[in-house]
Order: sequence, then structure tokens, then C-alpha cells
Amino acid sequence: MPTGPAGPLAGKGAVVTGGGRGIGAAVAEALAEAGAAVLVAARTRTEVDSVAERLRKKGASAHAVPCDVTDPASVAGLAQAAAARLPRVDILVNNAGVAPSAPVKSLTLEEWNRTFSVNATGTFLCTQAFLPGMVERRWGRVVNVASVAALGGAPYIAAYAASKHAVLGFTRCAAAEVAAQGVTVNALCPGYVDTPMTEAAVQRIAAKTGKSREDALAHIRATNPQGRLIAPEEVAFAVLFLCDERARGVNGQALVLDGGGLLA
Ligand code: NDP
Repeated sequence: MPTGPAGPLAGKGAVVTGGGRGIGAAVAEALAEAGAAVLVAARTRTEVDSVAERLRKKGASAHAVPCDVTDPASVAGLAQAAAARLPRVDILVNNAGVAPSAPVKSLTLEEWNRTFSVNATGTFLCTQAFLPGMVERRWGRVVNVASVAALGGAPYIAAYAASKHAVLGFTRCAAAEVAAQGVTVNALCPGYVDTPMTEAAVQRIAAKTGKSREDALAHIRATNPQGRLIAPEEVAFAVLFLCDERARGVNGQALVLDGGGLLA
């Protein structure tokens, strides 16, 4: 596949939320390699700056904007920055997310609300900011990074799973609204991915159960029948697939990347 200015996404503009590390950083890199001009957004300025700088050093057009996706004013600022720095926003990857864990009996309302505001409301606010332009130009791709937790439940992740179920419901409704207008809206549903979020989960399991880090990691790996963590680059590849012209018939779907753990 050709990369850079001659790549399949040459001339396109892409916004990646939560692009400062983990999956978002890999997605930004893959989009840039495919030729898109990329804008990465997250709250930690040093992280988004360093991702954008790394991509520019490779010859990409890359920009960084600090943004809190839970805050409508901050998302409006992101839209303004995108209008100033990208040719257009053709691709939006709603990837910003948080994943706390607690049993239902001790889950606080504050944690529940915070999880929903990042994962679900953030996805809504960013989509609302960029979808109208895509519809107007009759081309667009929205990819929402949900989770296998959008499709099932497990102990201790009620807020996370409920918020990701909300992301998937939102995905399906937005997809239905824009189906005839050249825009697709899809969700990715990865199992555990090798990122700082998963490392935090490993540390939490080790601290709560007294297991070693290695045993806690083995427990997490075992949720994937392939016995491994998904690489961030695998999620990025799925984003590229959904952004391809030839994937225009894929709309409102939940694409699972978990090695075959969920066989729904
Ligand atoms: P990381 O914790 O490694 O990265 C999360 C990113 O989201 C960071 O850049 C973070 O930056 C950003 N973010 C968090 N809160 C906000 C906010 N309020 N506004 C803007 N950006 C924010 O997570 P992953 O890369 O692992 O996860 C990315 C997405 O993939 C999440 O939606 C997650 O739920 C989903 N996912 C992850 C899986 C995994 O196993 N890791 C599995 C399935 C889905 P900052 O804190 O600086 O704002």
C-alpha cells in the first residue's frame, strides 16, 4: 500500500481524540502513513505534542490540540483548531476513554458520571461537531472505539460497560441518520489491547488480589483465546479498513477484535 502523500487517504483530514498515547497514538500514525493530515487531541498537552512531532518528523502533516471531550467549550475549540489546520475533517476517530473498575455496590455516582461523560458524552459532542461538515460534503467516516464491553458484561466494569453500550447505541442511530449521505459511522470493539490503560488494569488487579504483575497479566491475556493482548496497530488497521472507499457499505456495525473470545 502506498504511504504518505500518495497514500489512500491523501488529501483527507482526520481528528483522533485520545491521540496522546495507546490506541489513539497508533491510529494517528496509521492515518498519517496513509496520507491523511491528522490532528490529535487529548487533555495532556505534552503527550499530544509529542505524537504530532513524531509524525511530522516522518513527513506527515500532524497537529496537536489539548481538548477535554467532556467539555462542550473545549470541543468547540477543537472544531475551530481543526478548521484552521486541516483541509477538512473527513475522518473522526472517537477514541478518548477512561476505564475505572469497581463492584456495583461501591461504584460512586461521581465515577459513573465521569465514565459516561468521557466515553459516551464525549463521543456524542465530537460527532455533533464534525458530522454536519461530512454530510454537507457527502463523504465522511466516524469510527468510535468502543470495546467488547459494548456487547457484554463482566464483574466490576458496570460503568465502563454501560457507557460503551451507550457508544454502540449512539453509533447505530447516527449511522442510520447519515446512511444515504455518503457517511458511515461504525464502532470497533477490541478486547484487551496492549496500552497504558491495560497496564493500569493489570496493576489494579495485582494490588487488589495480591497476585504478581505477571499473574495478573496472564489472567488478562487468557480472556483472549489467542492468549495475548491485541496490539494497538491492529485496532489502527481496522480504522484504516473502515476509512477505505471500498468499506463504504459497512455502516452501523460493531467490529470485534478479540481473537475470537466473543462469538456472537
Ligand atoms: P489510554 O488510557 O492508553 O489512552 C486514553 C486516551 O484518552 C489518552 O490519550 C487520554 O489522554 C485520552 N482521554 C481520556 N480522557 C479524556 C478526555 N476527557 N478528553 C480527551 N481525551 C481524554 O487508553 P487506550 O489507548 O487503551 O484506550 C483508547 C480507547 O480504546 C478507549 O476508549 C478505551 O475504552 C478503548 N478500549 C481500550 C481497550 C484496552 O484494552 N486498552 C480495549 C477496548 C477498548 P488524557 O488523559 O491526556 O486526556
